[in-house]
Amino acid sequence: MDFNLLTNIEICHVFKNEAPMALVRYSHIPTAFISLLVGFFVYFKNRKSLIGKTLLAITMLFSMWSFFDLIPWEFGYNSVLTMFFWALLGLVQAFLFMSSLYLIYVFPENKDVSFTKKIIAAIFMLPVVLLTPTAFNLTLFDVTNCEATEGNFFTNYYYYLSLLIFLWILIIIFLKYRKSEKVFKKQILLMGSGIELFLILFFSTNFLATLLDNYVILIYGMFGMVIFMGFLAYMIVKFKAFDIKLIGAQALVYSLIILIGSQFFFIQSKTNQILTGITLTLAAVFGIFLIKSVKAEIKRKEELQDMTEKLAIANDQLRKLDNAKSEFISIASHQLRTPLTAIKGYASLILEGTYGEVNQGIAEPINKIYASNERLVQLVEELLNISKIESGKMEFNFEKHRIEDIVKDLSDTFVILAKDKKLYFNTELPEEHTPEVEIDTSKIREVISNLIDNSIKYTRRGGVNVKVELVKNATWKVKHQFKSEKPVIMDGDAVKITVSDTGIGIPKDDLSYLFSKFSRGRDTKRLHANGTGLGLYVGKNIIEAHHGKIWAESEGAEKGSRFIIELPLEQPKS
Ligand code: ADP
Repeated sequence: MDFNLLTNIEICHVFKNEAPMALVRYSHIPTAFISLLVGFFVYFKNRKSLIGKTLLAITMLFSMWSFFDLIPWEFGYNSVLTMFFWALLGLVQAFLFMSSLYLIYVFPENKDVSFTKKIIAAIFMLPVVLLTPTAFNLTLFDVTNCEATEGNFFTNYYYYLSLLIFLWILIIIFLKYRKSEKVFKKQILLMGSGIELFLILFFSTNFLATLLDNYVILIYGMFGMVIFMGFLAYMIVKFKAFDIKLIGAQALVYSLIILIGSQFFFIQSKTNQILTGITLTLAAVFGIFLIKSVKAEIKRKEELQDMTEKLAIANDQLRKLDNAKSEFISIASHQLRTPLTAIKGYASLILEGTYGEVNQGIAEPINKIYASNERLVQLVEELLNISKIESGKMEFNFEKHRIEDIVKDLSDTFVILAKDKKLYFNTELPEEHTPEVEIDTSKIREVISNLIDNSIKYTRRGGVNVKVELVKNATWKVKHQFKSEKPVIMDGDAVKITVSDTGIGIPKDDLSYLFSKFSRGRDTKRLHANGTGLGLYVGKNIIEAHHGKIWAESEGAEKGSRFIIELPLEQPKS
């Protein structure tokens, strides 16, 4: 073509026509559209998020850039139009770089940067804003060869600024990656590389276009945005970043379909159209699967959340009910105590002959009344203990006391009880005194007494042995079930009390829940019908309140049992 025959403007039209116009439109329109789509989706999902706002700003700047860049391509070059739009392009591009830097600063914490940093950024941006409309930017646009003459100062400043921001982002990614929690590491890496790829493509094509004097190269820079949006979409789906979930997946799929579908407008070759058709179908099919699976996942999550909430409500109601029950038991037990004490008093007065001589016929039923009343008194006592434990109202009076003294004291009573059942009763106390232990004596006495009482109750042949010893450097963990504090690790010396018997033993399955409320062994009822299943439960709570531990051991049914308590010498200072 003979250029000399054409006017200046026409020359540029020729240039324009030589440029692959389909590629120009294709690179500008769909990419700007997709980036805006993603930007708006992220923003509308969480309007308050700084990240969302910055992303929207980036995508808007980008689409503005695409628009400004497209106009000279589309309408042919003439000096004024090109100068004007190229100036705008430079401005927008600088802001685009700065917003990208801001994005990596606020991601993923969503925290704004300091005022000082903003001032520094503003200082860097000032020459861009001030000099863009001047001759420092574009001196002139020569329509004879369709080339802009760039003001040297500005071009250099502009490239250095872009390079600086690019490197700055790289450093921020590196620093953030190092100190962030593991869950965010991958997100930072993806977001960072997305931004950097976008910028480097933008920047290097710009540079190359100037260097090689071929402005068609600029077009390829825009595909960096597609890559960036792809990274973003992946993050949205994979990490539920920006809280977008389904919309994110849909945006990704629809954008992909639009992007591929738009190719039909630009390609003429049949083979390419068929290939695009196949790609489009594949993308649509996979897209539908992706959306479906995301939907299913969201549904599952929501169901789970729903169930958790319901459970929490039910839990709360149960707790309230439990409190009401404890309160009720507490009041009822207090009311029961008075008449029971009266029955006990009168029965013993009758038996002692205070109301006249008691003949054998009447003495026996009165004795039975007395014994039954005693059982009721004990039950009421245990119920009261439980309501106190559960409402956290049980009070402890800690004092220094020797465990052996308690055991010696108890053995006087239990020797007789064992003898009545033709059982032996041994105590095994250390030759050297065990140190004194910080305890609530009456409560610990109650617990040991209950263990010995149980051993005698649940033994037919043989007998019971109670051993007290010092354990050096014991370590254990205690968590009191009615206190929400963290478990306490105890270590140091402890006094160990072992009550062993040759009785009915405990089947393996029963061992784990013996210490629960109202729990009684399966075979127990035959041997002793009147138990409550509360003694061990109360005992465990008392021992745990002493930061001690209690457990049972047995080789199985009919093989005897061992109940063991370990108490620390001192209570931890709170
Ligand atoms: P109770 O003895 O009133 O049933 P406890 O809480 O004291 O309640 O004991 C709970 C259960 O633990 C008993 O019902 C019994 O099955 C089992 N148990 C306790 N001590 C022994 C023991 N020495 N030998 C066998 N089983 C025992």
